[in-house]
Amino acid sequence: MLKRLIPLLLAGAMLAACGSAEPTKSSTLQFFAMDTYMTLTVYGEGCDEAAAAARDEIYRLEEILSKTEETSDISRLNRGEALESLSPDGQEAVEEALARRQETGGAYDPTLYDLVELWGIGTDHARVPAEEEIAEALSRRERYDLGGIGKGFATDKVVQLLRGLGVESANLSLGGNVYVMGSNPEDGDPWRVGLKDPEDEQQIVGYLDLEDQSVVTSGDYERYFEENGRRYHHIFDPQTGWPADQGLESVTIISADSSMADCYSTALFVMGLEEGLAFCEGREDFGAIFITSDREVFVTENLRDQFVLTAEDRGYHYG
Ligand code: AMP
Ligand code: MG
Repeated sequence: MLKRLIPLLLAGAMLAACGSAEPTKSSTLQFFAMDTYMTLTVYGEGCDEAAAAARDEIYRLEEILSKTEETSDISRLNRGEALESLSPDGQEAVEEALARRQETGGAYDPTLYDLVELWGIGTDHARVPAEEEIAEALSRRERYDLGGIGKGFATDKVVQLLRGLGVESANLSLGGNVYVMGSNPEDGDPWRVGLKDPEDEQQIVGYLDLEDQSVVTSGDYERYFEENGRRYHHIFDPQTGWPADQGLESVTIISADSSMADCYSTALFVMGLEEGLAFCEGREDFGAIFITSDREVFVTENLRDQFVLTAEDRGYHYG
């Protein structure tokens, strides 16, 4: 009698779970950090505590990586203190940034602090500097600006932390940096991540279905000012000191490594389509999607089965 009861009870319990209309518990936090709006959604048991811990981790890293906070590691480094005196996370971020500069042939350069300040893009004192000022700022590359890696670096740390807390499913958006953890608990399917239309924030150009991947975009529409009908955006070509002007509107990198994706999105935007595609050649640890100003879309081979273009009606087409 007892033997028969156990399976029945078990079946009952499973039915109750499957038939329950209750969605998986989730916790969403929205806040401003690292100069951008962030939204974190964590699913499952303990999601409230996990989401709060993730947010605190971002605040902690912001205090280390900020270039404006006087007491941050980066400010200390910029005042001449030794790299070795920084916190382990501060050192790791700077070391990775320098390695990425090397890898990208200088297209990603974390030492553009003076140039970024000179242009002031995104501030109320943005302006087009004189050529001599640009040359001078380029010659002084002693101070760090980790704006091109910080959010990706923080994303990787948050993912590590959430995994450690036993979280299996989460959706993290740190400004333009997205990370999807696990699968969508509502249906067990991968997360569907849309790619913003560079010309219309309300629309997408296409989407990808992903699990445990980061999606990071660098675009000329994210931060810019206009003067005499020209747009000056925030991604600089370290060779010229001017906003990169290679005919691209955005570069999106898809990778499990978010800090790498962050650096590469910036770097490939600077390189332009041809050099950027050559850089992707033979790499399996990331994929890229380029959108040109002519609305041409280029997708690296390793993403072709996953990417779906949905904006043909607005003139977007494969190049
Ligand atoms: P992202 O939005 O990730 O492409 O990074 C852009 C931010 O990184 C800018 O706001 C600057 O602070 C900084 N930055 C601009 N140009 C570069 C570059 N070529 N390499 C590294 N960082 C850059
Ligand atoms: Mg970047």
